[in-house]
Amino acid sequence: MGKVHLQIEGICCSYGAEPVLNGVEFIVERGGLLGILGPNGSGKTTLLKAISRTLKPHLGRVLLDDQDIYRINSIEVARQMAVVPQESHFDFPFTAREIVMMGRTPHLGRFQSESRHDWRVVEQALAFTNSSHLAERRITELSGGEKQRIAIARALAQEPEVLLLDEPTAFLDINHQTEILTIIRRLNKDYNLTVIMVLHDLNLASEYCDQIILLKEGQIYALGSPEEIITSTNINAVYGSKVLIRPHPLHRRPQVILLAKDQAQTKIAGGARVHVVGGGGMATSLLGELVQAGYKVTAGVLNIGDSDWEQAKILGVDTVEAAPFSPVTAENHRSNLDYIEKAQWVILAPIPFGEGNIYNLKALQTAARRGQRVVVIERIPIQERDYTDGKGLLEYRHLLKLGVIRVTGEGEVLRLLQREGQT
Ligand code: ADP
Repeated sequence: MGKVHLQIEGICCSYGAEPVLNGVEFIVERGGLLGILGPNGSGKTTLLKAISRTLKPHLGRVLLDDQDIYRINSIEVARQMAVVPQESHFDFPFTAREIVMMGRTPHLGRFQSESRHDWRVVEQALAFTNSSHLAERRITELSGGEKQRIAIARALAQEPEVLLLDEPTAFLDINHQTEILTIIRRLNKDYNLTVIMVLHDLNLASEYCDQIILLKEGQIYALGSPEEIITSTNINAVYGSKVLIRPHPLHRRPQVILLAKDQAQTKIAGGARVHVVGGGGMATSLLGELVQAGYKVTAGVLNIGDSDWEQAKILGVDTVEAAPFSPVTAENHRSNLDYIEKAQWVILAPIPFGEGNIYNLKALQTAARRGQRVVVIERIPIQERDYTDGKGLLEYRHLLKLGVIRVTGEGEVLRLLQREGQT
C-alpha cells in the first residue's frame, strides 16, 4: 500500500448557497499527525465532515487509499475511519464499556452478537485510554475528561486506520488537554494510526502535530511543519492578532504569546518609528514596551547572541547585527545610520561602552546633529559603564552637548513619546 493514505482533491463545500470550503487540497501520509487550525468559521469542522463522509463536497474528491469515500458504503468507511466529535452527548445511562462496544458495530454482522475478540478489543481500547477503571460506570455520570476518553476508546474499538477528531480538548482543563493529546500522539506513533484533528489552541497544535493546516475563509492559507506555520506573520494574517513566537524551553516547538491589544496606545503611537541603541540586556524591557505600545521599532548595532539581540529577534524587531563578541564594522555603522535616519525617535539605553561599540555613539551624534530627536537614558552613570579609558566618556559628553533629550529611566521614555505623539 502506498504512503499516501488520504488525498483531498480540490473540495468545495457549501451549506445551501453559502460556500464554506473552496478548493481545499492536501495529502496525508499513512501514520501522519495533522492538525487543522483556523479562526472560528474558517471551515475546520466542515472539512472534517467532508473527510468523514458526512457532508459530500459538491466539487472534488476525498480518496482513502485511492478510493473515493463517497463511492464506498458507509460501513466499509467506518471500518477504516473513526470520528470523535467535538462533544459527545450520551443521553442514556449505558455503562462506559457498553458505549465502547458500540464502536464494534461496523465489524459485527447483522444480528451477530459480540465475540470474545470484540470484548478483547473493547478492553484494550479502555486500557489504552486509561479508562479500564471506568468500565462499569454510567456514562452520564462521568466528567468531561472521562467522557472524552470513552469517546476516543469507542473510536479505537472500531479498529480504524484513520482517526478524525474535532477539537478533542475543547471543554477540558489543561491537565486533561495534555492527557488526551498524549493518548492521541501515542496512538499515532505506536500504532501508526493516521490522525487528523481540529484544534483551536495554537500552542498545543504546535506541540503535538507533525503537520499543520492553517485555514482562512475556507481555503488553505498555509500548510507545513509547526515551525513553518506558527509564525507571527501567518498568525497575524489569519487571526489578525499581534503575537510573539518563541521556542518552548523543553520541546523547542514554536509557542505563541499573545500581545494584548491596546487600541488607545496604538493610536497614539500612530506607526511612528523608534530606533533603539541597546546592548548587554540594557534595552530588553524597553524594546518590549515599545513594540507593545505599537511603535515600529528597529535596533542596532547589537551583537548576535546578546540578550537584547535575542529580545529583538523574538519581537520581530529589524536589527543591525554584528558578529558575536566582535566590534561594530563600518558596514554595520552605515546600516545603523540608515535605520536611524528613518526613525522619528532614537533612544540610547544605558549600555556599557567598549572599543567595539563606540561607533554607536558616533551614529547618535550624527542623528543629533541632523536635528533628530535623540533620547538618552542616564539611569547608570557613564563613568560606571565606560570601558575605553575615557574615549567613550568623551564621545558621550560630546553627544549630550548636541541637544539631546536626557531622561533618568526607561519609564520616562514611553511617557515622553506618548506625550509628544498626542501634540
Ligand atoms: P469552524 O469549524 O472553522 O468554526 P465551520 O466549518 O463550523 O467553521 O463553519 C464554517 C462556516 O459555515 C461558518 O460561516 C458557519 O456559520 C457555516 N456553517 C457551519 N455549519 C453550518 C450549517 N449546518 N448550516 C449553515 N451554515 C453552516
